[in-house]
Amino acid sequence: MWGIYSALKSAFNRKRKCPQCGKITIIRLENKLKTVKCEKCGHNLPAPKEQI
Ligand SMILES: [Zn+2]
Repeated sequence: MWGIYSALKSAFNRKRKCPQCGKITIIRLENKLKTVKCEKCGHNLPAPKEQI
């Protein structure tokens, strides 16, 4: 039950917007809990804190 719910929830959290340049970066599933870099400017995009 919870596995399905969190899978659905994470599907909506796979995009991160760069606060510096506004570029939307698609986050791969394996990187969703990691900090990734903006494709455009290299700014760090940390994982969102709200993880339930
Ligand atoms: Zn950027």
